[in-house]
Amino acid sequence: MRVTTVFNRLLALPGITVSDVSFGASVVTVDVGLRRRRLLCPECAFSTRARHDTRAVDSSWRHLDLGRWRVTVRARLRRLRCPTHGVRVEGVPFARPGSRFTADFEDLVAFLATKADKTTITRLQRIDWDTVGRICERVVADGLDPGRLDGLVHIGVDEVSWRRHHRYLTLITDHTGKKIIWGAPGKDAATMDAFFDELGTQRAAQLEAVSMDMGAAFNKSAREHAPDAVICIDPFHAVAIVGDALDVVRRQAWNQLRQLPDQGAAKRFKGARWALLKRPDNLTEDQSATLRRLRRQGGNVWRAYTLKEAFRAIFAGDLDTDDVDALLDRWCAKASRSRLEPFVKVAKTIRRFRDGILAAIKLNINNARAEGLNNHVRLIIRRAYGFHSPQAALALVMLSCGPIHLKLPHETAVR
Ligand SMILES: [Zn+2]
Repeated sequence: MRVTTVFNRLLALPGITVSDVSFGASVVTVDVGLRRRRLLCPECAFSTRARHDTRAVDSSWRHLDLGRWRVTVRARLRRLRCPTHGVRVEGVPFARPGSRFTADFEDLVAFLATKADKTTITRLQRIDWDTVGRICERVVADGLDPGRLDGLVHIGVDEVSWRRHHRYLTLITDHTGKKIIWGAPGKDAATMDAFFDELGTQRAAQLEAVSMDMGAAFNKSAREHAPDAVICIDPFHAVAIVGDALDVVRRQAWNQLRQLPDQGAAKRFKGARWALLKRPDNLTEDQSATLRRLRRQGGNVWRAYTLKEAFRAIFAGDLDTDDVDALLDRWCAKASRSRLEPFVKVAKTIRRFRDGILAAIKLNINNARAEGLNNHVRLIIRRAYGFHSPQAALALVMLSCGPIHLKLPHETAVR
């Protein structure tokens, strides 16, 4: 078999014929020609037989490694004149527009980005992390379900911090399909307005419920653009503010201990934060021991802890709206009488948003359900911290939690 035939088979790239193969120090360079006569605009469906000219230099793309060899695909491309986009270098069937990588290579990297950490991917694929980010952006632009904004009935809006210094992304979840379907940098009313602009009035009118946190920004936007939808408060957020109240009580107690001459007690208490804030079934052995010790000591911190756990239990997902209603009432009364100032305050907030919380329960958004997707998003966002652009962080979220079907090169049909 001729070496060019071998490489035709090995690369398995669509629409090309291998004309030459050369070996460098660590790279195999494969020269290819496009089989197609017609020139395709890389931006639209326009095609023509008329060539504007041929580029003076070769174009090249990194393809999947062969063993320990890097593979570069090289071709001399032509230019065409698109009536819409002007003079452009022709598109190729094996790579996304503007990319220096083949689609196979990008698909593999995008898949890895949803599964592995930065060090693993950059070392294995020999590319830097911002390149991974740009690859994620291209794969998402190419593969996201174009119908993802159709037929939405029940959505949730949430903000996540994606970098230090208070940089946020706003994410919209389809609660029915359990996917993130839209996102943008920012976290104010204007960010959500941009979503409604894209959704359009017709599809917005079909929304029956929008769930959110207790802030004013998203509420304002949803009221304005989807006036018929019920506003719900995600139990996740209600549970989170009760957790914050517990954290305030814990800090107060710790500060009191630090004033004491015996520093041992303060030191032992320092590790209590996670023991108190995590769900009891997720505790390590050390954290469980800390919790038992706090229980023996009793006092404010333990009372605050039992209040928080009682609150969380209301949203475990096994109660109907009437029961949740009654328990919320009882909980608020108890918290108001607790003489723990942060809990008195949080009880007021919960009362104020009670209708929204109950609306969420009626629609069967329980804490576990909201928390599942939320925890997954947070895990992915931590990985995106190293990216420099919010678009790359967003792309990684969409790759992992959005309506997109990632395929590995060997899973695509033989071409
Ligand atoms: Zn065009």
